[in-house]
Amino acid sequence: MGKPTGFIEFTRKTIPYRPPLERIQDAKEIYTRPDEPALVTQGARCMDCGIPFCHSETGCPVDNLIPEWNDLVFRGEWKTALDRLHKTNNFPEFTGRVCPAPCEGSCTLGINEQPVTIKNIEQSIIDRGFEEGWVTAVMPRFRTGFRVAVVGSGPAGLAAADELNKLGHTVTVFERNDRIGGLLTYGIPNMKLDKGVVERRVRLLEASGVHFVTNANIGVNIEPQTLLEAFDALVLAVGATRPRDLSVPGRELEGIHFAMDFLEANTKRLLGDDSAQSPFITATNKRVIIIGGGDTGTDCIATAIRHGATSVVNFEIMPKPPLTRAEHNPWPEWPRIFRVDYGHAEAEAVFGADPRTFALVTKSFVGDEKGQLSGVQTIEVAWEDGKLTELSGTEKTWEADLVLLSMGFLGPEAVLAEALQLETDARSNFKAAFKHHETSVPGIFAAGDCRRGQSLVVWAIREGRETAQCVHQYLNNKTASLVKPAETVTI
Ligand SMILES: Cc1cc2nc3c(=O)[nH]c(=O)nc-3n(C[C@H](O)[C@H](O)[C@H](O)COP(=O)(O)OP(=O)(O)OC[C@H]3O[C@@H](n4cnc5c(N)ncnc54)[C@H](O)[C@@H]3O)c2cc1C
Ligand code: SF4
Repeated sequence: MGKPTGFIEFTRKTIPYRPPLERIQDAKEIYTRPDEPALVTQGARCMDCGIPFCHSETGCPVDNLIPEWNDLVFRGEWKTALDRLHKTNNFPEFTGRVCPAPCEGSCTLGINEQPVTIKNIEQSIIDRGFEEGWVTAVMPRFRTGFRVAVVGSGPAGLAAADELNKLGHTVTVFERNDRIGGLLTYGIPNMKLDKGVVERRVRLLEASGVHFVTNANIGVNIEPQTLLEAFDALVLAVGATRPRDLSVPGRELEGIHFAMDFLEANTKRLLGDDSAQSPFITATNKRVIIIGGGDTGTDCIATAIRHGATSVVNFEIMPKPPLTRAEHNPWPEWPRIFRVDYGHAEAEAVFGADPRTFALVTKSFVGDEKGQLSGVQTIEVAWEDGKLTELSGTEKTWEADLVLLSMGFLGPEAVLAEALQLETDARSNFKAAFKHHETSVPGIFAAGDCRRGQSLVVWAIREGRETAQCVHQYLNNKTASLVKPAETVTI
């Protein structure tokens, strides 16, 4: 434990983001550089409590050894802190930037104080590691001769590939998009995660021996069967890519898009791609309504503001969460409270108000004679015992030129489950048990959002790591079954 009285002496101080009105002028990361003394002070706030809930089930999904590296940072032992961090997390530069930090929700200090700034410390350790040149490619010392195909290159696929490669298996990652990274590349915008940060890790994995094949759409331009024949095991990490639609009158009007179409095309343009290949959806000089919240909704708000939208409104069907924990949401659970994310703060700075409207349902879209969207009709709702009731007399029409649908995802596309005859669960995810990951077809494993449903980067990393262990066990068993039982061996 760094400083026994640290949590009494020092208050929580997070590393600030760049000011909203400055950062909306560009698509660069919103973060500022931390100063070391401030981080040391924050590390000193860790109490090294008897049971570190921050890395238990309710806390960090990859079981990061948080009290250990808090202490190491306090002592200035950054390199050892980095080694500790990499033991449990393949990609702390991603989680340090985009993780909502369930660890902080279950920090013991959070019972009656503000929690330790765990996420800031994580990001600083890995960023320093890269700056100092401590993060290097490591080739495995031997190869097992087994070949594993990973389909999908999001955080789950990358974590599985990294771990399997370290175990000596020869890994090829197949990705249907033109760049590696999944939603790290084409979902989460540059402001939260610079694409150079993703690219840097991909190059390290490549230098460590992982093979990558882009524009490889398994089930469309490559038969899944060929992978089964060419590889000893298959990991599916294809994400939950089917967006939830909104089937209300007027849905066919021009100007209504899925959030991911907007975000992906925006990133491609920022990366210098030809927009003919991925049509650009602009919010410039438009009245924008985003239906649905969460990270995707926030990213749409922030992106629309950077395009120069004339107004941005965000509809949420759920009621406004409380400002502090409700009685039925005690520590160390994730606090379901009202939060102001980067996009909300930017909208407030530009338009003078938080963009969110809660407890609102969209009834229909309205358009002009050319079939172009001109507005959205809504009604307010009341929630009781999980059921909503429409409140008559609260109908309203909102003017809009662009609507972005951000209402979540419905699981993986059906093509692979059909081609490989995989069982799916009630929510159409690939059926594979938590911590086991093998699907209904032996030798085929599932990891990340395609197994657990839409989730978080840190959960995808956890699933990728765990799946790699399950595949390794499967391959070991395969080897064992090839060896004759001892009593039949003749010497
Ligand atoms: C806009 C947005 C913002 C988000 N922001 C955050 C955030 O701030 N913090 C956070 O923790 N989480 C965030 N998330 C969630 C997080 O990104 C996902 O939970 C995570 O990326 C899931 O990882 P994955 O590897 O399972 O799948 P994905 O990242 O979805 O990757 C799946 C990959 O598989 C590829 N693929 C699919 N089918 C095939 C096929 N047949 N052949 C070959 N390749 C295929 C896809 O092209 C994709 O690249 C966000 C999600 C979205 C949509
Ligand atoms: S990965 Fe997320 S939950 Fe784990 S320590 Fe980092 S910020 Fe916390």
